[in-house]
Amino acid sequence: MAKGIRKKGASLSLRLFIVVIILCTVPVVVTSYFLVRSSSDKEIEFYVQRSREQVMILANQLQTADYINVPTNPTVNYMLAQVADIWDARIQIMDAGCRIISDSYNVDQGRYNVSEQVMECLSAKSIISKADQETMLSIVAYPMVNETSEEKAITGVVLVTKDLSSAVSGIRYIQERIPLYWLIMFAATVLAAVLAILFLLRPLKKLAVSVDAAADGSLRSRVDVRNYRETARISDAVNRTIGRLRMLDESRQEFVSDVAHELKTPITSVKVLAESLMGMEEVPNELYREFMADITKEIDRESRIIDDLLSMVRLDRGVVTLNIANTNINDWLQLTLKRLMPLAQNAKVELAYESFRPVMADVDEVKMTLAITNLVENAIKYNREGGWVRVSLNADMKYFYIKVADSGCGIPEEAQDHIFERFYRVDKDRARATGGTGLGLSITKSIVNLHNGAIRVHSSTDEGSTFVVRIPLVYTSEEGGGKA
Ligand code: ADP
Repeated sequence: MAKGIRKKGASLSLRLFIVVIILCTVPVVVTSYFLVRSSSDKEIEFYVQRSREQVMILANQLQTADYINVPTNPTVNYMLAQVADIWDARIQIMDAGCRIISDSYNVDQGRYNVSEQVMECLSAKSIISKADQETMLSIVAYPMVNETSEEKAITGVVLVTKDLSSAVSGIRYIQERIPLYWLIMFAATVLAAVLAILFLLRPLKKLAVSVDAAADGSLRSRVDVRNYRETARISDAVNRTIGRLRMLDESRQEFVSDVAHELKTPITSVKVLAESLMGMEEVPNELYREFMADITKEIDRESRIIDDLLSMVRLDRGVVTLNIANTNINDWLQLTLKRLMPLAQNAKVELAYESFRPVMADVDEVKMTLAITNLVENAIKYNREGGWVRVSLNADMKYFYIKVADSGCGIPEEAQDHIFERFYRVDKDRARATGGTGLGLSITKSIVNLHNGAIRVHSSTDEGSTFVVRIPLVYTSEEGGGKA
């Protein structure tokens, strides 16, 4: 069963591991990728910008030297060859008709260059530059303008083509090594995540083992994992639950032993009576009858205990259905007391009823009859000859109140907290003599609670007792629903 439950949930360690790996690697990979990319673009931009400035200076020098008209100038040609060498570039000079006058590669002189950049430069009469990432070439075309002429005619174009690779060589170096860095970082993250999870989740594993041990073991075990605030809270909650279970278990054991004891007493009496009868020879009829009457009394008592136990267990099970109905409480109470009148007369106790107002309320008549009968029977039982029992009914806007007052022996203060407990009796001998089982008040309290009411007792020894029951006029089930 425990294994089944364990299998159902996903592993926390695995989830944490995945989350840590994603959180540690994805941001690093994404930022490093975009950083390298944007650095490369920036590098190229700077490179082209510098080339434009250099080409501008070169074109001005060529213009000053009137290179288009005098392309054989050895000094200028030497300078051109030097510059092409230093820049590691191809320099082509075209006249206004796109004819190549000079080519640092010495291959295209005399031919025509009608490339896109040259044509654009001629028509726009301005510098054109382009960085082609596919061919890794930087192309700058600069128009040579005759500043002395009025219409500032274009005399030629300087076209410089450079290899971009050198500009981005540093970035490329990093780019090539980045997958390796990623791999190393990933391996380090995996290792760190495994160690961290093993370390961080250790208290949780410890907690699971302790809870398992508590679940399988006795109710005396304790769970105590205080490494984290959360595990401490769970430990406390589990310990509280174990404590409650232990209390329940103890009270169950106590109840079983009380029941066994209570049931055994009448049976022992019956056995003693029967054995003494059997031990006598020639038993006179009178004595025989007397013994049989005693035996019947004990059997009655046993049967009363069993009846009370059954009522209590039914009420305790928590599944009782209340047959709530709107009832005339005055009529119902009067009828209940009428039934108890013979008992009062037998005990020579005066039983009086007083009602202060008509009351209609939602009650389960049968169960409430049992509750009030128990109170009035006690008031008669624990009374003196010639005493009285006064039952009164009153109500306010929300509740009705039934008061049962008697002139009996009273209940000592220290016992008042216990009289609603099962099998509790103040004076065991007297209770037994009056046929008490010690379950009556416990049953009454359960019924009052089922009606969402309350019961209180005021009493002092030799001055009598007063029990007050308070019940809501309108019954609402605990779920907040209507009548049950
Ligand atoms: P029992 O069957 O013994 O009467 P109850 O649960 O009804 O059991 O009452 C518990 C104990 O409370 C009684 O044994 C008795 O000692 C005391 N008690 C209850 N009602 C009264 C009362 N009206 N006057 C004096 N003692 C009472």
